Amino acid sequence: MSRPQQITVLGATGSIGLSTLDVIARHPERYQVFALSGFTRLSELLALCIRHVPQFAVVPEVAAARGLQDGLRAAGLPTRVLVGEEGLCQVASAPEVDAVMAAIVGAAGLRPTLAAVEAGKKILLANKEALVMSGALFMQAVHKSGSVLLPIDSEHNAIFQCMPQDFARGLDKVGVRRILLTASGGPFRQTPMSELAHVSPDQACAHPNWSMGRKISVDSASMMNKGLELIEACWLFDAKPSQVEVVIHPQSVIHSLVDYVDGSVLAQLGNPDMRTPIANALAWPERIDSGVAPLDLFAIARLDFEAPDEQRFPCLRLARQAAQAGNSAPAMLNAANEIAVAAFLDGRVGYLEIASIIEDVLNLEPVVALDDLDAVFTADAKARILAEQWLSRHGR
Ligand code: NAD
Ligand code: MG
Repeated sequence: MSRPQQITVLGATGSIGLSTLDVIARHPERYQVFALSGFTRLSELLALCIRHVPQFAVVPEVAAARGLQDGLRAAGLPTRVLVGEEGLCQVASAPEVDAVMAAIVGAAGLRPTLAAVEAGKKILLANKEALVMSGALFMQAVHKSGSVLLPIDSEHNAIFQCMPQDFARGLDKVGVRRILLTASGGPFRQTPMSELAHVSPDQACAHPNWSMGRKISVDSASMMNKGLELIEACWLFDAKPSQVEVVIHPQSVIHSLVDYVDGSVLAQLGNPDMRTPIANALAWPERIDSGVAPLDLFAIARLDFEAPDEQRFPCLRLARQAAQAGNSAPAMLNAANEIAVAAFLDGRVGYLEIASIIEDVLNLEPVVALDDLDAVFTADAKARILAEQWLSRHGR
């Protein structure tokens, strides 16, 4: 029997990281954890190291590394601790590694994910922000290294499963007319508009169907998540923004659909549990048990669909505009959103101000071409500064 595949899990202490480790632990003959990273919850990272015995663990700074190393030594583990972005890039590209789960949230995941791409690893991509920021450069790097890029986002994993194997030839050539990207509509789909100004971070994070990290939960409430996913879908499947239609489907059972020119529409269904796309990508093109319960269609009983309301969800409109503008617009959108969401989670701005901040930032800064990674980070930094300036201008 062949040796188990060596897996690096970036963002191991997060929601996707933990679901990934749950699937991996069900298949010790197939997968072994090579490295884990954490950022804040370091006692949880130690517990994960004790459970999975990785060769490396990565933490943000030296003091945290000392604390973790002491804990590892006390537990008699051989795990070595690395530090910072350099450590993340090292465990993402190490020669022993077969696949990298990119599950750091936000722009912080870009460099380590790209390091894995450049090293030709199999990439399990949860960190959509990395692709949104640097789409053209990211996809060029994928093509150059021959890296296999597998989407973890449930919608993109669903689309991937519904696409023909040779979709990279071009959607027109393989008879795909449209991608139908489903969205739950989040916790505020039916909240009276007059109440939206006063909703709290905890209300925004109380997603009706999915349990996720706080940043993506707020993005789901504002539908910026769907906007980022629209941009993500364009890069992953070489689609034009006009070929991606967002469909609100409150039950989150159909994870997305592909519409073919002959009128066939293929959908992927399943319980809303990220272990399904994670297991799909880990084992692709094979199938393995994920621990997810079988879908009970009789219990679900009905599936509903509605068009998104861009008055209610201005972030979706802003993201579509950024997708159409291309170049630096998606990176700026993403960076402004990260600042605005962090400010909302800290109680510094109201929910409705998230979209206002992003719109102001996008209006203030012209769209420029992004020829290299430095240009991506320059656009990202500019948008962060402009968003911070919005906050100070408004006394936050
Ligand atoms: P989370 O907040 O639960 O976890 C984030 C992880 O990233 C943690 O391990 C944290 O330690 C690490 N991290 C945070 N900031 C960091 C930094 N500056 N440097 C290094 N590491 C850092 O988030 P999540 O819900 O697991 O989401 C992770 C990614 O997956 C996001 O990009 C999200 O959009 C995407 N995603 C998540 C889900 C989901 O169901 N949770 C679904 C689809 C896509
Ligand atoms: Mg998703």
